Amino acid sequence: MRWREIEVSTGSREQLVEITSAVASEIGNSGVENGACHVYVPHTTAGVTIHENADPDVARDMLTGLARLVPAEGDYRHAEGNSDAHLKASIMGFSAMVPIIDGLPALGTWQGVYLCEFDGPRRRRVLIGVLGS
Ligand code: ZN
Repeated sequence: MRWREIEVSTGSREQLVEITSAVASEIGNSGVENGACHVYVPHTTAGVTIHENADPDVARDMLTGLARLVPAEGDYRHAEGNSDAHLKASIMGFSAMVPIIDGLPALGTWQGVYLCEFDGPRRRRVLIGVLGS
């Protein structure tokens, strides 16, 4: 398995940043025809997801919906004051897998891969690993 790391700069406290092109480049550079591409975010207040990339309002609605599920203020004890960010990141998860078929990411027509920032702005690391032959 070959892992590469990219850096993503986020611009606000909460933001979904599309990283599909970086994932597609890693798959292309790997030469793998059939396999899997794993995307992993080694952070506790950022996650990764795959969702619609046609309408930018979907990303906005996801952040709005998550804010309804996880209020910024609440019965939290974590002294850092960013418990909502930890909860949201855990809900989204820290890894995603994209199948590789015939050398290409087998994403659906409307799907994109997104880094989910919940405690930015920051520089985030994303590990992209390609496995296959
Ligand atoms: Zn914290």
